Amino acid sequence: MIGYYKSDPWSIIEEGFDPAMQEASESIFSLGNGRMGQRANFEEHYSGKTLQGTYLAGVYYPDLTRVGWWKNGYPEYFAKVLNAPNWIGIDIEINGDQLDLNRVKPVEFRRELNMQQGYLERTFAIYVGTGRLEIAARRFLSMKRDEIGAIRYAIRSVDFEGEIAFTPYIDGNVVNQDSNYDERFWEMESSKSVAGSAYLMARTRKTGFVSCMTMVYTVEKNGSFELIEPEVVQREDYVSNRVSLELGLGEEAILYKYVSVLTSMNHKPEAMVDQGIRLLMGAMELGFDALFEEHTAIWEENWAHSDIIIEGDTAAQQGIRFNIFQLNQTYTGKDERLNIGPKGFTGEKYGGSTYWDTEAYMIPFYLSTAAPEVARNLLVYRYKHLEKAIENAKKLGFTGGAALYPMVTMNGEECHNEWEITFEEIHRNGAIAYAIYNYTRYTGDRTYLASNGLEVLIAISRFWRQRINWSAEKGKYVMLGVTGPNEYENNVNNNWYTNKMASWTLSYTMEELQRLGKEDVSAFDALVKKTGLKPEEELKAWKDIVEKLHFPFEENLQVFLQQDGFMDKEQLMASDLDPAERPINQHWSWDRILRSCFIKQADVLQGIFVFEDQYDLETMERNFDFYETRTVHESSLSPCVHSILAARIGRSEKAYEMYLRTSRLDLDDYNLEVDEGLHITSMGGTWMSVVYGFGGMKIKDRMLSFEPDLPDSWEALSFKILYRGRTLKIQINKEQISIENMEGEALDLFLAGTKMHLEKSRSVFAKM
Ligand code: BGC
Repeated sequence: MIGYYKSDPWSIIEEGFDPAMQEASESIFSLGNGRMGQRANFEEHYSGKTLQGTYLAGVYYPDLTRVGWWKNGYPEYFAKVLNAPNWIGIDIEINGDQLDLNRVKPVEFRRELNMQQGYLERTFAIYVGTGRLEIAARRFLSMKRDEIGAIRYAIRSVDFEGEIAFTPYIDGNVVNQDSNYDERFWEMESSKSVAGSAYLMARTRKTGFVSCMTMVYTVEKNGSFELIEPEVVQREDYVSNRVSLELGLGEEAILYKYVSVLTSMNHKPEAMVDQGIRLLMGAMELGFDALFEEHTAIWEENWAHSDIIIEGDTAAQQGIRFNIFQLNQTYTGKDERLNIGPKGFTGEKYGGSTYWDTEAYMIPFYLSTAAPEVARNLLVYRYKHLEKAIENAKKLGFTGGAALYPMVTMNGEECHNEWEITFEEIHRNGAIAYAIYNYTRYTGDRTYLASNGLEVLIAISRFWRQRINWSAEKGKYVMLGVTGPNEYENNVNNNWYTNKMASWTLSYTMEELQRLGKEDVSAFDALVKKTGLKPEEELKAWKDIVEKLHFPFEENLQVFLQQDGFMDKEQLMASDLDPAERPINQHWSWDRILRSCFIKQADVLQGIFVFEDQYDLETMERNFDFYETRTVHESSLSPCVHSILAARIGRSEKAYEMYLRTSRLDLDDYNLEVDEGLHITSMGGTWMSVVYGFGGMKIKDRMLSFEPDLPDSWEALSFKILYRGRTLKIQINKEQISIENMEGEALDLFLAGTKMHLEKSRSVFAKM
């Protein structure tokens, strides 16, 4: 679908209505504000294929596990992000006929996601007989008041005369497409509809989350308010007001709908109706335009520090802004109970909320573009789940405070239920440990380690120690029966990446414990007491593992081997695959995939990316060439890592190809699944592919370092990063790189390999 959406630096634009693309566009044009989000469903009734989606952050349903054959240790349920009551609905009747774009063909249809200001707008015209009506619907979810959404629905008659009726409503009669037993997830609590306003309160079954949506609306005709007596409908699961008016030639009617969306995450159910009305009154008094203005002011602020400007390549520019926009509207970092689901607020797939994606792909973005509290809150989220991670490990037979964090979770409990992932894809523990290090080295804030981080590191280290065993045959420690990031291999021995993460965690935990022991004896003693750590015995065992852990290596080719026995596979190239059989996960049987050498996503290369300082360029190159040719990138998390490494080793063309694939993955629908929702977590990877890849940013010798390499088609690249209280502006073109210290103290950094001192409010330059 390359080229379906128009190329534009700030907007995503669809021109012409194609019902076959409706579900894809519903994903692409999604809106969110960190607290709630929704797919771009039409306001008015639509009888064609659609995936209804209204989501509330943190509100989920524990759908009973459904598997073919139960295995001990499986979680009881799979947490599902819920399709919540629909609050955007506004039915339209024209001379008594319901407007339905599946039945009436619109002309001049245009849909725009304006990323600069954060709104969705749809304009189109229809003919009723010979009468032409022009419709413009704009909506946004306020970034300033994150429990408020607003819609302006305007109908202008060019040469139509007749009756128009608007029916704004809230509908609790919603289901999840993804439900194991076709259960309803909501029970209605109460509802009320009176002239001018209505509310609907619903409660999730089992989890007992309450949501309360309240609406008010106003009608304007030709610029003046109209007071129209509505027909009021109040059912248990549906509330509405129907208002009708006559429209003559050249006249315009506008309905403004304001909705407050509250949940029991933040409010007491008994106070929710009053509170919802209070919030709405504030919003309505302000009016649509002023509400919109304060919303766009937040977007302006967001863009001021998170924008990336690419000159000379509109497709690349649009791609990166789309990714940044989605990241900023999915997670705002205000609430440590929230995390980022792979689909954010754009679809139901991957139901649960939190994967290793957050630590491995998202944290770097928030570290560099937001205040440190934002990334810290993501760490605190895991800290608060530590007890559950220890319980989880206990269920699987681990003891003594060992923790295995879940592969998928909403509340700290595991809810992924494929054995090869639930029990075996344990590298997630490593990503969680690494995120603590990443936060600490980037922000310089060491307080988190002592207050929370080390507890997590100790528990994860204990897990690795027990998960690894001594092989008498090899005379080495080994880790058996795992699934690495490459999920096209299961139950393998000594996955290089997982072993690397385990060994690194053990070393880092020991290093930080020893440091704390020297720097703050009382904090160290308190930690020992709290965790029951036996420093001598435990650290000795960890050290032994670090020294004697087995890492598979292919001597002839001098590459790290993804796992023991990988070379027994028939060594084929991804380029030899029949394009008609790709993606292979949609065409091949699972056993055929498992027996093949094809790699779903970066695995060894993921490790090389994470620990790049440990490898010279030749090593990177050899491994890149070996693995890139066997990788089919059937996970959205893959191309970004390949793009970064390709840029590191000077393969600009490959880096660019992989960049487009990651940044335009959804806009160009590379994986043929955008209708299910967007790949939100891979968007953090896209950001890394520009800043770490083409911008060449990394931390070297505890200092920031930039060694850029622009793709041929880019004239210039610029972005800002927040770093230890400073705002740095990086500008790169074909001739030079410059860094301006816009705000904050002087610092030392590396620029194109040379160490420089950058004063406050000054710039440094280097030739390329
Ligand atoms: C990937 C995992 C990832 C998950 C959610 C899977 O396809 O293989 O690495 O955590 O998607 O994004």
